[in-house]
Amino acid sequence: MRYLVILLIVFSFFSCSHDPEYYIDPALMPYWNQFNYEAERLGFQIPDKSFMLVLMTHEELKKIYGKSVNGLCYRRKKTVTIYIKEELFKGNLLDYSKRVEATVFHELGHGIGREHNSLYYDSLYTFTHPTKGYTKEQSKIWPVSLLTTPNYYKDFIDGSKREYYLRELFGLEEWKEREGVRIINLSSEDYFTSVKEDMESFPEDYQD
Ligand SMILES: [Zn+2]
Repeated sequence: MRYLVILLIVFSFFSCSHDPEYYIDPALMPYWNQFNYEAERLGFQIPDKSFMLVLMTHEELKKIYGKSVNGLCYRRKKTVTIYIKEELFKGNLLDYSKRVEATVFHELGHGIGREHNSLYYDSLYTFTHPTKGYTKEQSKIWPVSLLTTPNYYKDFIDGSKREYYLRELFGLEEWKEREGVRIINLSSEDYFTSVKEDMESFPEDYQD
């Protein structure tokens, strides 16, 4: 039934018009507005397409895509259709709104023409074990982009690199131009082993 409703919405939404139209789920409206606000602030012109942002359950997304995802984006010539996992709004998560924002911005990044990469910046930092007290140097990595996948946007979610990610998203900053920081290319498996220790400190920050 839900599919039928969505299909009807899509059909009526995308037919009989050449002007861009918008269907944004009310729960996703703040994130859509924020994306438009940031784009305008940074001088980026959002393509003249129709946009649809809707929520779907984890199970519905899994049925469509074949595996667990937080969001999906379908780009066509004149339309962008984005599904966001509604469970992102639930559960015992730290600051879920930033997590939803990262996911919506990632999918909208596809919507404005961006593709995935799996590149991370890598630098060393001094890690102090919270209970045992010892310190050591370990690798600290962060994605070069909100389009980096697998998704782990801690520095966007905690706000410390928010402006960098936004500038990169809208083409104002080229990650390649950054100097003095190593860039590494991580496959999913590499990712899990290399950031495991970091993830244990912040397990709820992970997004699939
Ligand atoms: Zn993606």
